[in-house]
Amino acid sequence: MNDSKSIKKSVWDMALSRLDTTMDLLNLTSGLKKYLREPRKILEVAVTVKMDSGDIDIFKGYRVQHNTNRGPAKGGIRYHPDVNLDEIKALALLMTLKCAVVGIPFGGAKGGVVVDPRALSARELENLTRRYTFEIINSIGPERDIPAPDVGTNAQVMAWIMDTYSIDKGYSVPGVVTGKPIELGGSLGREEATGRGVVYSLLSALKVNNIESTNYEVAIQGFGNVGSSAAKILYDLGFKIVAISDVEGTIYNPKGIDPHSVYNHALKTKTVAGYKEAEGMAREDIFGLPCDILIPAALENQIVKSNAPGIRARFIVEGANAPVTPAADGILKEKGIFVVPDILANAGGVTVSYFEWVQGNDAYFWSRREVNLKLRDIMERAFYQTYAAAQEKKVDMRTAASMLAVERVADAVRLRGIYP
Ligand code: GLU
Repeated sequence: MNDSKSIKKSVWDMALSRLDTTMDLLNLTSGLKKYLREPRKILEVAVTVKMDSGDIDIFKGYRVQHNTNRGPAKGGIRYHPDVNLDEIKALALLMTLKCAVVGIPFGGAKGGVVVDPRALSARELENLTRRYTFEIINSIGPERDIPAPDVGTNAQVMAWIMDTYSIDKGYSVPGVVTGKPIELGGSLGREEATGRGVVYSLLSALKVNNIESTNYEVAIQGFGNVGSSAAKILYDLGFKIVAISDVEGTIYNPKGIDPHSVYNHALKTKTVAGYKEAEGMAREDIFGLPCDILIPAALENQIVKSNAPGIRARFIVEGANAPVTPAADGILKEKGIFVVPDILANAGGVTVSYFEWVQGNDAYFWSRREVNLKLRDIMERAFYQTYAAAQEKKVDMRTAASMLAVERVADAVRLRGIYP
């Protein structure tokens, strides 16, 4: 799977080469091309933590703001041992494009700390989060740059960031982060929003391919926030979940798996592996199993040149960011697989983050139904705009989404002009 470090290092190069292709298709000037390739701000900080042992440890932290032309920078914070600057830059660029493709008024950012959060005690994790927040405190803020959860972080981590920022300011600033606990101004529906957005994207993809039925088999790679939410919503809609994987392995049952019950199993054991009512396999095996729909919902660079030929799904909906390498993308295209790209498919999370920010600014909170309806509207509009662009320009969905997004960002740059 993601066994080669060199693949991971070039995530930024891959993102840039995709951006270059898009900018060439749009005939942007060479100055604009240079501008959009360059992150606006890069912070690299040492996060010092007093560990439970009594000794201190230092963790490397980053926050990258790729672009702020359409609004404040927006994007998650990732805690993972493989975090590196190239990865964070690539993910920040994807956030710029993601916010533009769904038309929400944000730029793009991403942050990360090189740490395995599972290896820390609750106190160490809190101290690491507070110290990281302190190190980037002058760059974030409700009008500046608004972090959110990503791989390895959650609502509790957002609460600590909000508290640290608020103490520094001297008053409560809930708008500095999204994905907060409901009690602190979080939005109903935010927790499962990315997974729900993946589902709306899939339903639209089926519809444009004249498929109305839910009688389809789904394989889900990754059972974190995105994969587990998508699996549960799809199951409740009548789809048959046949395979689920995580870092420990794959579980497969052609008769169907109940993801609610897998979720409870994983809560106890921290993994889907060992779930009794399915066959256990290696994690990589998920990519060769028979299914109609494959949802990669883990990390980047999972579908690569070596496993792409074995994929049997007709639809891939990218719950993760950058799960498919450009080389694998070519193979999927040749196989005629309909791919809903990351910046479109997984934009549900940041869309409800936007709703959370709006609700917080107004101090007026919406019902879950209202959140989900508005989310569906935005996801469907973005899907159909992308699909229409793909048809008109005779390009695939990834290129179309990227063209729409880059055009919107480029328009904002032109309209604002360059200071001074
Ligand atoms: N981390 C999520 C993403 O990659 C959400 C970002 C946000 O809500 O700002 O889209």
